[in-house]
Parts: sequence; structure tokens; C-alpha cells
Amino acid sequence: MNEIFPQGCAWIDNEYVELAEAKIPILDWGFLRSDATYDVVHVWQGRFFRLDKHIDRFFESTKKLRMPCQVSRDELKKILANCVVKGKLENAYVEMIQTRGMSPKFVRDPRLATPRVMAFAVPFGWILKQEDFEKGLDVLLTDIKRIPPSSVDPTIKNYHWMDLVTGMLDAYENGNDTAILVDENNNITEGPGFNLFCVNDTGIFTPDHGVLEGITRQSVFDLAKELNLPIVKKVITVEELQTANELFASSTAGGIMPITKVSGIQIGNGRVGDITRQLHKLYWKKHTDDKWSTSITDILSSY
Ligand SMILES: *Cc1c(COP(=O)(O)O)cnc(C)c1O
Repeated sequence: MNEIFPQGCAWIDNEYVELAEAKIPILDWGFLRSDATYDVVHVWQGRFFRLDKHIDRFFESTKKLRMPCQVSRDELKKILANCVVKGKLENAYVEMIQTRGMSPKFVRDPRLATPRVMAFAVPFGWILKQEDFEKGLDVLLTDIKRIPPSSVDPTIKNYHWMDLVTGMLDAYENGNDTAILVDENNNITEGPGFNLFCVNDTGIFTPDHGVLEGITRQSVFDLAKELNLPIVKKVITVEELQTANELFASSTAGGIMPITKVSGIQIGNGRVGDITRQLHKLYWKKHTDDKWSTSITDILSSY
């Protein structure tokens, strides 16, 4: 085995291949212009978590980009399940991608391109590792502005990540775990691949615009409702973030993850908060619930 590629499997050009063999042509607009959309779902102990919600969002994103998805829902489910099985993974991070593809003779008109769909499965990844849960994340509050919604629709999951990557570089060089970006009015948006929540005496809050509408963010709303906890989408100021009782991040890559420090300064008492703990516990419990998860074997035997 080589040292670059993790264990896993990809599906590209109608074939299942090892990750090292999964390649796209240099003239694909997905590569040259980040003209692509994607989605990531996870598999935990052989079960996809909220798969239909991820596929709904993926189909919605492809439509908004005026390149409706090139495969059907049932086909896509089978492809994703096969990537996990062929990659011999029990817990996986499973990504589906559609790029604008290539146009004949490299003409500029995006409508002339033929979209390309691909997928891959790799081992499950965490923004905050399980063993670091009690420690929580130390995030760097940057002054980098998230690409505004008037430029790129943030509800389309996209690869316009230069702002987020710059944030990550700043964070790592400064000794933080990850970064948070702000909007044009210096209010809180999100971080590289995760949404943010703050908890104060009156409830749970998350930014209402300028962010990707995460499936885990939606899960937090569903779980909060079940636990009878008040939760609201609204503008969140830097001050509200810094003076919160609790902060947490939500992402398919790790679930609900406590943030205990912002730029090195302790949030609340510096320990994982009670609300974060309750949501985290119920979130993982849902991974064996038939209403929230689907077994891979069922997907592969049902069509
Ligand atoms: C994927 C992503 C998230 C988290 O969404 P989930 O569906 O919960 O994984 C948040 N922000 C950005 C920019 C993302 O790309």
C-alpha cells in the first residue's frame, strides 16, 4: 500500500476502483473552476445516518447549479453502499460529488458540459476525536469574512473553500484546533465543515443565514425538540459567542462536538456543558434507530 491514500473505495466513470485509481481529467470544470457540488454522509457500525436527507440536499444542490443529478436516488444509494462494502469499512465518511464535467473542445459555455458523478468511502473522520471529547475544541475566532451569500449560495455544498482553508492555516499556525469565520457585519458564520451553536440562559442559538444548512444542524433542532429545549436561528454576535454558557460545533464528520475555548479563552466554566452532553448522547443513540439510520445490507438487498 502507498502512504497517501487511506483505506476505501471510489466509484468513477461507472466503475469501482481503489482510491489511488480514482482520477478526473485536468479539463474537468470541477477542478479548474470549483464548479461542482458534493455531499457527505456517514456510516456508523454498518448503518448510514440520515441518508435520504443528504441525498435530498445533494439533488437540491445539483438543481440549483442547473445540472440536475445524473443518477437516480436508488442507484446513488447502491453506489454509496457498495463503496463502503468494497472499502471494507464499518465506520465511514462517504462522499458523493457532481462536477460540471468537460465541454467539447473546451468551450466556455457551462451548459455544453457533460456533468460527472463520482463517489468514495474512506474511514470515518472526526473534527474532534472521541478521546478528546472532554477537552473540547479550542477554536480561533478569525477576522476572515466567509464568502457572502450574495456571491456564492452557501446552501449549495461547494468547494469554494479558500476562506475556510485560510482560517485553518491561521488556526493551526496559532496552535488552535480549527477556525470560525465571520460575515460582512462581523457576526458569526461557521467553520471549515461545521455549523456553530451557542447556549445561554434562554436557549440554544445558531446563525440564521450565510451558512451551509447542515444535516447535523437539522439533527440538533430535531433532538432539541425531543428534549424540550428551546432552540432558535438568529444572528449571533462575537460578544454572544464569547459570553455563552456553552458552545458546540455540528458536522457529519464527528457529530456534536463541544467547543471549550475561543482563541484560547475559556467558554463558561471551560468544561463540556450539560446541554451539549445531552444532545451528544441522544445523537449517538439515534444511530441504531430505524427512523434515523439505514443498514447497508438492507440497501444492497432491496433493489
Ligand atoms: C458540510 C458542511 C457543514 C456541516 O454540514 P453537515 O451536513 O452537518 O455535515 C457546515 N459548513 C460547511 C461549509 C460545510 O461544507
